[in-house]
This record gives sequence, structure tokens and C-alpha cells, in this order.
Amino acid sequence: MTTPATTIDRALQHVYKEVLRRNPGEHEFHQAVEEVLGSLGPVVKRHPHYLAERVIERLCEPERQIIFRVPWTDDAGQVQINRGFRVEYSSVLGPYKGGLRFHPSVLLGTVKFLGFEQIFKNALTGLPIGGGKGGSDFDPKGRSDAEVMRFCQSFMTELYRHLGEYTDVPAGDIGVGGREIGYLFGQYKRITNRYEAGVITGKGLAWGGSRARTEATGYGTVYFANEMARHVGRSLDGQRVVVSGSGNVAIYAIEKVTEFGGTVVAASDSSGYVVDEAGIDLDLLKDLKEVRRERISRYAEEKGGDVRFVEGGNIWDVPCEVALPCATQNELDEEAATTLVRNGTHIVAEGANMPCTPGAVRVFQEADVLFGPGKAVNAGGVATSALEMQQNASRDSWSFEHTDERLGEIMRNIHESVVTTAEDYGRPGDYVFGANAAGFTAVADAMLAMGVI
Ligand code: NDP
Repeated sequence: MTTPATTIDRALQHVYKEVLRRNPGEHEFHQAVEEVLGSLGPVVKRHPHYLAERVIERLCEPERQIIFRVPWTDDAGQVQINRGFRVEYSSVLGPYKGGLRFHPSVLLGTVKFLGFEQIFKNALTGLPIGGGKGGSDFDPKGRSDAEVMRFCQSFMTELYRHLGEYTDVPAGDIGVGGREIGYLFGQYKRITNRYEAGVITGKGLAWGGSRARTEATGYGTVYFANEMARHVGRSLDGQRVVVSGSGNVAIYAIEKVTEFGGTVVAASDSSGYVVDEAGIDLDLLKDLKEVRRERISRYAEEKGGDVRFVEGGNIWDVPCEVALPCATQNELDEEAATTLVRNGTHIVAEGANMPCTPGAVRVFQEADVLFGPGKAVNAGGVATSALEMQQNASRDSWSFEHTDERLGEIMRNIHESVVTTAEDYGRPGDYVFGANAAGFTAVADAMLAMGVI
């Protein structure tokens, strides 16, 4: 991707060109910027002052980028060195907020793409949170708890100086779950000698966590998909659904789909996918992934019968009416999208961040498949993190029902705002446009009110 995409309005091509020039080799970041710029043509036409004040160029440049060395010792006594990142993107709506990803594929460009998306996603929630993201190329897979702890302690020993409940509030993402959040928070507390619960979210319930935070991204994804279905007079009840991944987002998306009467017939991890026509057995999947940290092939081995494991392969070959990609970026390409369309898929909602390639999105839109982009669909996770911060600030703890109800309400509001924004610009049903335009406008207006920042 070296030349500006033709979908970007001419008035904005120079912005994209400059992003490419200043951020060489960061393809995922380019892709995320291209996706947002592709929607902003009509917005700047209606509000030319956004262009004149160079708001978009400002937003493409993070407020601060931190890169640091993370040295630690493995169980064999060998010194290991990883790289840590925190990109503090935008703080006009609140403290920087966004997760940490621990995965060997993490580069600065990965964190920038996620941070850029996060600005608009957080704006869509309507809650007072800015955008940021972080992580490391550390791979927790196959590491002992003691190794993960030593890594997290070293990571936080550098990162703590940049954090604070009013400054920057990380959370989990790929490879960072409850265990890692515990080690990170514990080290922050030791270094600062402060019990600053609101400095990190995704905490355990006994030490400042919020009920429904673990479930929030997956549940929120399905609440959003349900709103999409309702909007066109359909429902998830009785639908055949495929969910990729088998991590935090996927597991709770599967749980909520089942509650809504749908049947999830396939799930995956990076080794392959399983097909269970009777519907994925969530107790077994949770035990395998949340407790035993096993590969997905074990699901088929332990289930037996007609359940199949397909090594490698493409989960999107499994026919379904609703597709929920919940694993990672660019996991669903143009070819997979064409297969889904041929198999009669009518709703695709992104539980992961940017799981569909631009080509795949084009295929869905041309085939009139309802397509919900991640920054709207999976915003329930960060929204519930903001609810966790609210509970921490008021030294309170809400019930599961109350928190889940707030989550449902936030997802319905995001859906409403995306749909009405798209309609207002004469693009009904275009969730990509609606999410980008609504998220951008909220951030841009706050930014302009604060002067040249
Ligand atoms: P987890 O680490 O809990 O699970 C990730 C899942 O995706 C695993 O099944 C993993 O398989 C699979 N996966 C990861 N990388 C790859 C890859 N390169 N190829 C194939 N499969 C892969 O992460 P989450 O569930 O938290 O996150 C999933 C997605 O949702 C990410 O895009 C994340 O940014 C996004 N998201 C998460 C939020 C949250 O609250 N957790 C909030 C909003 C978005 P394996 O174990 O084999 O690697």
C-alpha cells in the first residue's frame, strides 16, 4: 500500500500521502488511517473548517509515543529482552484509554493502528475517555506464571511513570487477561505506594474490578449485531453463526449468541478451527482456554463424535448466516468474504479490531451484507472499562445486572448514533461511514474548542 487509495476524497489525499511518508512500513497503521479518511470526504465538505484547521493531520500524529526495553530473566536463568510500547494518541475527551497487547507480531505500527482506531471508538461510547494503546512483542504462550510475572513487573517498572487515573489507563487485549493485569497492577502499586485502582482496568473483582468487564466486549459485540438485525426486521434467533478466535472476545460472544437463540457452529485459534454442528460447548471451551490454556484441537479430541478439527484452514469456509470475526486483524480477506457471501451470510460484525481487509469490506458492501466495523461493534469492552473507572472513582461496586444493563444501553446508543449519522449524510445502512463520521466529529469538535493542540 504505497499510493493513496482512490476511495479517499481528493481533498484528503495529501493527508494520506503525508501519513505514508512519515510512517514508512507501518502497513496496518496506513490501513486504519485509510479506512477513516475514506469516510471523511463528505464530512469535510460540510465542515470545511476541519480541513482549514488541519484537525485530521493533527489526529494522525499521536500526542506521545513511548518505546522501551523490557529485560527479564526466564526460568532457566537466561536474560530475555523484549520491546515495550505505549502510544498516547489523543487526550481531548479524557485520559488516554486502551489495552495492552502481548504478542510476537507487535510492532510500533501495530500499536499505532490500534491506538488510532481507539480514539474514534472511545468517542463513540459517549464516555470521557481519550485514545491510546500499548503492548510488547513478548509471547506469553508456553511461558510459566513466574515468567509472565517477571515480564509484567519489568514492563510496568518502565511504564508506570507514564500512567495515572487522570493520565493514561491501560487494560487487556490479545495475550493480556486477568493474570497479566494482576501482575501489572501489583507492580504499579509497589512502585508508587498508592492504591490507585482507576489506573488500570480489567482488574479482578476482589481488587477493584467491575462485574461484566470480562464479558463486555463479547456481549457488546452481540448486542450490536442484534441491533443491526433488528434494524432490518430480523433477529439472531435461530441463526447459524461462526465466531473466529477462542479468546476473551470470542468466548463471551459465543455465550451471548446462544442466549439470543443462535447456534455457534465453529470457533478457532491460530492453529486451526473446530466445527460442532450441535453448537459449541461453552463449558468445555472455557475450561480449555481460560483454565487449561490448551490448543483448540483438544476440543475435538475431548468431544469426539462428529466434531471436527481442521488444522490451518480457513474458518470462513464454514457456511453461516452471521459471521463474527473475533480473533485478530486482517483475518478475513476478500476471498473469504466472497465465500461468505456465496454461502448466504447476511450480517458481519467485527468483534476484533480490523479483522476484515479493505477488500473484504468492499465485497460485503457491494453484496448488501450488513457490515458493522470494530470501532463501533466492539466498543463495549472499553465502555465497561470506563464504567470500572467510574466505580473506582466513587469507591463503589455495581451488580452484574446493573453493569450489563448499562453496557446494553451504551451499545444501543452507539448503534443509534452510527445509523442516524449515516442517514444524515444520505448513506443509510453504511455503518463504516456512520462510525467514522460520528466518532471523528466528536473528537474534532473537542479538539478545536481547546485551541491548537
Ligand atoms: P485473546 O488473546 O483473549 O484471544 C485472541 C484469540 O485470537 C485467540 O483465540 C488467538 O489464538 C486468536 N489469534 C490471535 N492472533 C492470531 C493470529 N495472528 N492468527 C490467528 N488467530 C489469532 O484476545 P481478545 O479476545 O482479547 O482479543 C481479540 C480481538 O478483539 C483483538 O483484535 C483485540 O484487539 C480485540 N478487542 C479486544 C477487547 C477486549 O476487551 N479484550 C476490546 C476490543 C477489541 P491463539 O491463542 O492461538 O493465538
